[in-house]
Amino acid sequence: MLNQKVYLDFAATTPVDDRVMKAMLPFFSEQFGNPSSIHSFGQQAEAAVEDARDTVAEGLNSRASEIVFTACGSESDNLAIRGAAIAARELRGANHILISPVEHHAISHTAEQLKHHYGFNLEYIPVDEYGMVNPNDVAMRIQPDTAVVSVIYANNEVGTINSISEIGKICRQRNIPFHTDAVQVTAYLAMDMEALQVDLLSIGAHKFYGPKGVGVLYIRDRTPFLTSQTGGGQETGLRAGTHNVPYIVGLAAAFIIAQEEREKRISHLLPLRNYLIEETLEMIPDAILTGHPIERLPNHASFVFKDVDGNNLLMLLDVEGFACSSGSACRTGDPQPSNVLTAMGISSEWALGSLRITLGTQTTFNELESFLRVLPKAVERCRDQTAR
Ligand SMILES: *Cc1c(COP(=O)(O)O)cnc(C)c1O
Repeated sequence: MLNQKVYLDFAATTPVDDRVMKAMLPFFSEQFGNPSSIHSFGQQAEAAVEDARDTVAEGLNSRASEIVFTACGSESDNLAIRGAAIAARELRGANHILISPVEHHAISHTAEQLKHHYGFNLEYIPVDEYGMVNPNDVAMRIQPDTAVVSVIYANNEVGTINSISEIGKICRQRNIPFHTDAVQVTAYLAMDMEALQVDLLSIGAHKFYGPKGVGVLYIRDRTPFLTSQTGGGQETGLRAGTHNVPYIVGLAAAFIIAQEEREKRISHLLPLRNYLIEETLEMIPDAILTGHPIERLPNHASFVFKDVDGNNLLMLLDVEGFACSSGSACRTGDPQPSNVLTAMGISSEWALGSLRITLGTQTTFNELESFLRVLPKAVERCRDQTAR
């Protein structure tokens, strides 16, 4: 039965590409050295880590000294906000944090902790009905005592892509550190650190066919920064801990493939996604596409259905063999409407009925056709149950 299941949740995670797996394998057993060791085993491992660092640095149009390997996208987000905010307070008494209300919890919960336990002032930038930040709203709210600004590059729940270079320009003019969470976009958008004018950027490998449990934080040279994880001096003291060599190698391999195959992947995904969106809106009454209709990730379709229990819908779809999400994989079992949808002005009678379908390299037209045969009936059944 299991092999008949259709996976439509690639924004939650992706399978590891065979080529990535192959690149990783020798570093578990044959080349197992600790990169911090002086001897040849260590040197070999260190060379692999530094090769990976060069690959990522080049792909981001940045320097190797600006690449910090972490244990996941969440860690990169945590490290970025905490590291920049605390350093800015020490350096110039900055006490104000500015973020969008549609950030991943790795950003918003970190910022809330900095507010409640460290005394920072936290301000949210408004978003429009598509969950998009207007750069002018950043310009209006940024202050001399702003410690750090963070705006998500592309939203995981609704797929909307923000104008990061425009926001970056505003922050750069004011000399305020700017972070963006790019975990969802690495597979689909070129990321040039000079063009984007960001100071900090988070990446997580498992969203682009790399392994779970490894990420990158780009930290622009000379950005005031305090490490969160102290210990051995790894990553030039910015992130202590023995390097996870196979996973770092895997991240770099997946990153190269993502760059090389980006256009190919996008041209595969776009027609599929557009077909899915058009058919869904046509077949199902009281359905709205959430997120921006054009400025959205090429693999991302997300909807709200009025008077539907989203978790109920997910279970019905799973029984039928389709794995989807309500938006964020971290929110399973929570009956509250998503704060991302609420920030976009969507009322709870709609927001509770959210569905996210995210496509991947393996997704086929046939899979979507069979999905679309099931979805309208599943929504109808949920509505019957809600009415009862
Ligand atoms: C998945 C995701 C994260 C968290 O990354 P992990 O590697 O799973 O910790 C952070 N931000 C966004 C936008 C994501 O999609």
